[in-house]
Amino acid sequence: MISTLKKLWSPGISGYPRGVRRQIALCNQLGLFGIAATLPYQLFYYVYEVAVYRGVFVANLFFIAGYLSVLPLNHQRWHHLASTVLLANGCSQLFVVTWFIGTEAGVNLYYFTLASISAFLYKRPNIRVYAAIMAFFGVQYVITHFLFTAATVITPVPTPWVNAMYAFSVAGALTLSGIVLYLFRRQIDHAEGELTLSNRYLETLSNTDPLTGLANRRALDVALEREWARLTRRQQALSVIMFDVDHFKRYNDHYGHAGGDRCLQQIARAAQGVISRAPDLLVRYGGEEFAVVLPGTDETGARQLAQRLCATIEALNIANEPLGAGARVTISVGVSSLQHSVPNAHDYGGAHLLKHADEALYQAKANGRNQVVYQAYGHPHAADVERDGRVDASGRT
Ligand code: GH3
Ligand code: MG
Ligand code: MG
Repeated sequence: MISTLKKLWSPGISGYPRGVRRQIALCNQLGLFGIAATLPYQLFYYVYEVAVYRGVFVANLFFIAGYLSVLPLNHQRWHHLASTVLLANGCSQLFVVTWFIGTEAGVNLYYFTLASISAFLYKRPNIRVYAAIMAFFGVQYVITHFLFTAATVITPVPTPWVNAMYAFSVAGALTLSGIVLYLFRRQIDHAEGELTLSNRYLETLSNTDPLTGLANRRALDVALEREWARLTRRQQALSVIMFDVDHFKRYNDHYGHAGGDRCLQQIARAAQGVISRAPDLLVRYGGEEFAVVLPGTDETGARQLAQRLCATIEALNIANEPLGAGARVTISVGVSSLQHSVPNAHDYGGAHLLKHADEALYQAKANGRNQVVYQAYGHPHAADVERDGRVDASGRT
């Protein structure tokens, strides 16, 4: 049933984008509705006294033809013309029918319906054109209301039939306006839903590093700012870790860029296994450098995590042959923490904490790599090295 109906109002919609298809379908639907709404009146004229109502009956036949012509016009892709024919036909019909049977039958109430749907029939309606259409329909309504009174009409409808007709006109006009507005409300909701989804998708894309699937530097900046703001409100600690793959240039030169990429992916996966607590954020800072934001983690916790990161990457056992037989891929790690209670702690911002971690990382490299260095917040260059005894000066294990 629904698919048959859909076929009925589908002429001319193929090959257009969704929004335009909807507009053409609406035009066709309104053409069909015009015919459907006219038929009960026609039935009345025919059954009640066709000889008396011949004039309005015949006029309506032309108007039905007018509504029907909307379908082939749309089929020919003359959509603008089809919409104009639809509105002009509807407008003329209301005028002529009211002229014949008077305003008491309420047929001119459909002017309000036509006015409300005209906004949906054209592509990007110009506000001036739209206002002019509204004014045109309003004037027509007022003219019919005052001109075609019971005393002046050609073929008035007697009571109680005229009352039934009035009720039918009210119901028809309200139903049509209601359906159209309901459908558009649904479309707006649908479009909003799609927009939210695609915005979320774009946001995820812009915050994600495509190689590792980790968050990227942009996400790190946002997280640092957010956690910094939280730190000023709550008695908490905040730690940041930065780590960098040791001698990665030589790894790349030896295994090629694709090999280097695979290595970075492996490191990212393994690090993600270590950094698994919900508020912690692991990001690829750039190149072969990574950063971790650890909200609510103090110095002790951060140092432990850094040690685990170091050990986990080494335990991956990824050979780094250019460094010598048996050499493995390792990382150097810099850590910095901030306790809420530190005086003047909030003077600089999250980026400052990151800078401390970066300095600590630099120190770890200078000290021989594959190790963790801690630098306390607010004490630049006071690096405190965590030697784990597994590294010699060349970085070999
Ligand atoms: P260090 O131990 O001092 O960190 O030495 P390094 O060789 O790792 O440091 P350096 O910064 O000189 O080299 C980093 C190299 O990382 C340079 C570049 O070839 C490689 N690299 C950066 N980004 C990517 C990437 O996305 N994919 C691959 N395969 N290699 C990358
Ligand atoms: Mg490196
Ligand atoms: Mg580097």
